[in-house]
Amino acid sequence: MAQSVEEQIQQFQNGLERRNPGETEFHQAVAEVAGSIIPFIQDKPLYREMRILERLAEPDRIIIFRVCWEDDAGNTRVNRGYRVQNNNAIGPYKGGLRFHPSVTLSILKFLAFEQTFKNSLTGLPMGGGKGGSDFNPKGKSDNEIMRFCQSFMTELRRHIGPDIDVPAGDIGVGAREIGYMFGQYKRLTNEFTGSLTGKGLEFGGSLIRTEATGYGAVYMLDNMLQAAGNSLDGKRVAISGSGNVALYAAEKARHLGGKVVSLSDSSGSIYDPEGIDEEKLSYMVDLKTVRRGRIDEYAKEFGTEFYAGKRPWHIQCDVALPCATQNEVSLKDAKTLLKNGCIAVSEGANMPTEQAGIDAYLEAKILFAPSKAANAGGVAVSGLEMSQNSARISWKEEELQDLLRNIMSDIHERCAENGREGDYINYLRGANIAGFIKVADAMLAFGIV
Ligand code: NDP
Repeated sequence: MAQSVEEQIQQFQNGLERRNPGETEFHQAVAEVAGSIIPFIQDKPLYREMRILERLAEPDRIIIFRVCWEDDAGNTRVNRGYRVQNNNAIGPYKGGLRFHPSVTLSILKFLAFEQTFKNSLTGLPMGGGKGGSDFNPKGKSDNEIMRFCQSFMTELRRHIGPDIDVPAGDIGVGAREIGYMFGQYKRLTNEFTGSLTGKGLEFGGSLIRTEATGYGAVYMLDNMLQAAGNSLDGKRVAISGSGNVALYAAEKARHLGGKVVSLSDSSGSIYDPEGIDEEKLSYMVDLKTVRRGRIDEYAKEFGTEFYAGKRPWHIQCDVALPCATQNEVSLKDAKTLLKNGCIAVSEGANMPTEQAGIDAYLEAKILFAPSKAANAGGVAVSGLEMSQNSARISWKEEELQDLLRNIMSDIHERCAENGREGDYINYLRGANIAGFIKVADAMLAFGIV
């Protein structure tokens, strides 16, 4: 007897878990995609016979290496470096580097898998990859960061290049780290090529790259609200995180008429019922990116609430933008958001909502933009940075703003087209299917490789 779709999903997932034991984040990311793709390919025998989904869930290549460096006290330190090159069917591998003590192979495999779909959704020719290290940049001096980045790049440079694999930033990797890594890449290869994105403007970086992920997540939110006949105007916006993505999401949400009432870091959340205005946001940017301080200083400065060790999802809001890290919205948090009247969630971070939380959003039929669609603005502008580097040109800020806005509208359209369920748009299903088709068709063209 033929297997039901549910049985096929279960069998696929059992195989994946058997081959990748203990990699829970990777299992989670693949399960979320398989839940959309396996039903979609039921009447598409070629995708099934050619095992496209199975091949997508088996990275092309994984590189793991030792990173030794010397701290300021002269001690030898040892970390582990990784690059997961998931799939390059539609372009060179592309995806960020994460430096955080929680980094494991499972986390990087989930991120590289997700990145493959996300990059396809942008419409630009980029494959999917991700890398990083369990190195903790917190509390390290600039010199220690430099020595670590140089040691990391000494190995990584063998595996990257403008037509091979082009890394960028992610958690713990910003302009400073990219600068050190690009400097070392250039020194070792004696080449000035666009082998990293997120570079400084003086050496080939693109305007608005820093802002692009946060801005893009808000554009996606705005597009969904508009498609539903609504707008951001006057909406209370809860944001988690206070890093690169969160700060620019806050800026754009404010510009589009929203009132941002929260931000957070790994020590807790602040709640500002009056809204984080321009002056307060500048204070926060200085606190988090220049002074690298803790978020409770904001609460002390402006006399607002600080919830130690808590995420902001208990705060009353109309829309939520999780912009910190994976699995930061549990089922309980998702239910609290829904109970408090939240009508839309746009994921700035990668896989911030646990699967059961996503199921709750979809059941309640709120507007939900999954990370692979909502945070694709960053990699899209990285793709534009690659084009600028190859052509040795640089676009003006207004041109890039327009390009970003248009790319996010196109992503919204692709998701809507593939995710329509009666009068509800299931953006998750739409994103998975739209991202899949382009990569799958390229893989079919290559035969069995
Ligand atoms: P940053 O390092 O700039 O900021 C991360 C923020 O999240 C910080 O406020 C940090 O707090 C907080 N955070 C990190 N880990 C945890 C944790 N375990 N619990 C609670 N808070 C935490 O990173 P980005 O803003 O660049 O990235 C944030 C998310 O967005 C990630 O999921 C990343 O993969 C995703 N993303 C980023 C892109 C980019 O262009 N940068 C592109 C696409 C996705 P603290 O300061 O205390 O560490």
